[in-house]
Amino acid sequence: MVRFQNVTKKYGSLVVLDGLNLDVAEGEMVTIIGPSGSGKTTVLRMLMTLETIDSGVIYVDGEPLTHMEKNGRLVRANAAHLRLIRSKIGMCFQHFNLFPHMTALGNCIEGPMQVLGLSKQEAEERALELLDLVGMAEKRDQHPSRLSGGQQQRVAIARALAMRPKVMLFDEVTSALDPEVISEVTSVIRRLVDQHNLTMLMVTHQIGFAREISDRICLFFDGKIEEQGSPEMLLDNPQNERTQQFLSAVL
Ligand code: ATP
Repeated sequence: MVRFQNVTKKYGSLVVLDGLNLDVAEGEMVTIIGPSGSGKTTVLRMLMTLETIDSGVIYVDGEPLTHMEKNGRLVRANAAHLRLIRSKIGMCFQHFNLFPHMTALGNCIEGPMQVLGLSKQEAEERALELLDLVGMAEKRDQHPSRLSGGQQQRVAIARALAMRPKVMLFDEVTSALDPEVISEVTSVIRRLVDQHNLTMLMVTHQIGFAREISDRICLFFDGKIEEQGSPEMLLDNPQNERTQQFLSAVL
């Protein structure tokens, strides 16, 4: 569903992604961990087309993200192509960025009405289903300021899902949350993976969260995958010396 093929990204002389190859299958939950500055967030930003790439190709749902086919040749994608690809991707951040002047329900219907052209009734039906899924249906009429951090994050997840993305990106979604609230968000995300066959790519510093939620964990060093595997394989039995050093420092 998502493929990075030999992707390189530089800022001046700093190589942030160094020939990265990464595949995420449909319905798979992949987490990226690694030292600060190793390029984790850059991967998500590139998928959101917030950054250009220097070389390589990124595919989403079989289509190149930055290029499109024209007369049998690959040319740079235009704005319409980027919008189409971007509509397949939902994103949740550390800071939930809910619209403060709108209720939980209002937050979840805005995008589907404005961007997808759904009627208010259609958007509300979809939003209520999703708020129910994340356990927030009862709080539908509350504004974000009246919700806890974990509740706001669950509304943010429902809001992203309301756009019916094929791929969800999570960037440090639990970092701003108290430990006891993290399990709320963990179980919501796990339920989405198990029941809805969504493809998810997540960045986190919280190894316990990564262990609970991931099908596969990729450890990044210097813009490349140093080692990857199931949570048990990677976290309990790392093969590589740098992985062992990193994990012993953070676990
Ligand atoms: P952290 O765990 O601290 O969030 P990360 O692994 O997510 O780090 P990135 O945010 O992907 O790291 O950044 C990778 C490198 O690219 C860092 O050295 C960062 O300083 C650099 N970088 C990121 N964005 C820019 C930019 N717009 N201009 C220049 N350098 C940048």
